[in-house]
Amino acid sequence: MNILIFGPNGSGKGTQGAILKEKYGMDHIESGAIFRSHIKGGTELGKKAKAYIDRGDLVPDDITIPMVLETLAKSKDKGWLLDGFPRSLAQAEALDKALESSGMRLDYVVEIVLERKIARDRIMGRRLCVNDNNHPNHIAIDAIRPAEKDGKLVCRVCGGELSTRADDQDEAAINKRHDIYYDDKTGTMAAVDYFKKKGNVKVISVDGSVPIQEVTGLILKQLA
Ligand SMILES: [Zn+2]
Repeated sequence: MNILIFGPNGSGKGTQGAILKEKYGMDHIESGAIFRSHIKGGTELGKKAKAYIDRGDLVPDDITIPMVLETLAKSKDKGWLLDGFPRSLAQAEALDKALESSGMRLDYVVEIVLERKIARDRIMGRRLCVNDNNHPNHIAIDAIRPAEKDGKLVCRVCGGELSTRADDQDEAAINKRHDIYYDDKTGTMAAVDYFKKKGNVKVISVDGSVPIQEVTGLILKQLA
């Protein structure tokens, strides 16, 4: 089974991807890992891509698409779940065409739908327990809201101090990523629309605002 998964940063896309990988024994391929493996492996495409990255330029699609395709082809027996690509309408069209001519079949597109403001709050509301990374705390999610002690928020599990990840508080960086995702003219939303309109692949759109297990349930119910 071959799947494309879409969802904005903060939608829990990575978590759902990990669950699907586990359940179906497929390869979970993240777009960043494709670049890294080609560059590390010193492939022709990797060398070309590196030249762009070193200059701080975007790697053009005529290098990216063959890299993606090569990586997917390696997983054709186990099946793949591609995460983080395509990011634009142009990439969606190019990938679709390339898959068709390679004889690889795209079975499903999974879209986790989440309002932009909620996605941003999800990212910015994460709090880390200084005692244990596995003590989830979040100021915007009732089920795991931090406790309060002397007017200060503390870990709901152990009462420890809470901190934030610098990345999670970088609103400009979050906005930049979301600008690309939520662009329904040429960005990632337009890529999802492309598959919806094309109609030759089943697009599963699920509400990402419900708890993680419910999102998983909604996806699994339609994957069969
Ligand atoms: Zn704790």
